[in-house]
Amino acid sequence: MEDLKSFSGLQLNRDKSRVYFSSRCSQKEERADVLGIARSDLPVRYLGVPLTVNYARDQDCQGLVEYVQRRVEGWQAACLSFGGRIELIRSVISAVAQFWLQSILLPVATIRRVERLCADFLWRGGMHAISWEQLCRPRKEGGVGLRPLLEIREASALKLAWRFISGGSLWTDWMHSRYVKQGNFWTCSPDNNHSVTFKSVLRHRGVLKSAIRRVMKDGSGTDLWRDPWIDRRSLLDIRGSPTHTEDRRGLTCSRILRDGEWRPDSYWYTEELGGFIMSTVIDPALPADRWIWEPPGASSGSGEFQFHSCYNLIRHTFPLSSDYEFVWCKGLARKMQLCVYKLLLSRLLTIDRLSSFGVPVPDPKCVLCCLEPESIRHIFFECTLAWQIWSEQSRVLGVCASGKYIGDIIPVIRDSRGRGQDWFRTARVRLAAAVWHVWRERNRRIFEGLVTPPVGILHNIEFDVNAMENG
Ligand SMILES: [Zn+2]
Repeated sequence: MEDLKSFSGLQLNRDKSRVYFSSRCSQKEERADVLGIARSDLPVRYLGVPLTVNYARDQDCQGLVEYVQRRVEGWQAACLSFGGRIELIRSVISAVAQFWLQSILLPVATIRRVERLCADFLWRGGMHAISWEQLCRPRKEGGVGLRPLLEIREASALKLAWRFISGGSLWTDWMHSRYVKQGNFWTCSPDNNHSVTFKSVLRHRGVLKSAIRRVMKDGSGTDLWRDPWIDRRSLLDIRGSPTHTEDRRGLTCSRILRDGEWRPDSYWYTEELGGFIMSTVIDPALPADRWIWEPPGASSGSGEFQFHSCYNLIRHTFPLSSDYEFVWCKGLARKMQLCVYKLLLSRLLTIDRLSSFGVPVPDPKCVLCCLEPESIRHIFFECTLAWQIWSEQSRVLGVCASGKYIGDIIPVIRDSRGRGQDWFRTARVRLAAAVWHVWRERNRRIFEGLVTPPVGILHNIEFDVNAMENG
């Protein structure tokens, strides 16, 4: 401890310190007495996160669930819109992701509980009209841009694997000397003595390989056969086991890299391989051979790790949604975007949908015209009010969309985008504003019990469109 003080300038406060022994350690009390520090047992909390020897269990992470619960309960009192609730969830999830997921491997059960709390808050404890999985997709793929915690967990694990191969920290050195020893990280097999963390690092080797590139100083730090230095593959991947057994023993790339130039002359050399080898960058100014972060399709060529590109590498992708540009149109108010979003997914809770879920509905008729049963198709573009609003909008825009359902109007507008970006944007804004006003009027009448002729709606829609275009 005196050495620690002279070396680092840090003085240990014995009263505030605890010593933790591994379960295999004997004479724990005696050893603690010698140190003069009180003994304690794991798991212990550090900055709220449980520290354990091995895998954190669901009950160890109760603190996180309680934290999210407290936040969500606090927000329930505030009268928040759907969009406002999405933003709050996004902020919690990113805070959780940055802090907990990058500190420990959260149990799946805990992740499920946290996401359940968020989803219940979003739908105010009522029916979940859109699944959490659907919402947790990027906007262009049909979601609202939330990120699933399980995928952030995977990305954090990949980041850890990257930190492991990048080296330069006490943790990496320790893990290397304990688990890899004299072997090679890329070819060592998982075994029961490995910690959960190291097993996770090993499990991510495949995807890690696809995201990195080797830059050589002199090749002396790169295993010729086993490190994936040739176009993200190792010589072993490409050639299979070497026929000369001596080739595998600690041979490095310095054998074929002399005086800053590639001189591959071995029996395994082929023209095709030569092309890949020659394209491997040599930089004699580097302190040592190193890995750089270069996932396929990444825009930045800095070679530095980026969580965003790491996340994109492991996340599940969905086909692009052709309607997203009608939802997430620039300049459109968030409430309008989300109204169109729900409509295009057919998830607005209309009376016919409610009754199909078994919700008792006294009168299935549309509150806008009181003639036909209410359905999405009816409300938007069959009902008199929608008809009035949309025929006015289509006249202004100069598109022929009479008598069509909203799903049919979108291709009409899309086909006319040749009229220019300004027109296309105006058309999308007008379409969204028309949808929003019909839905708002319908809700107003339901909540206020009013069934009167629409007054001023045509005026309002003009006003809103102008306000948005000017703003
Ligand atoms: Zn109607």
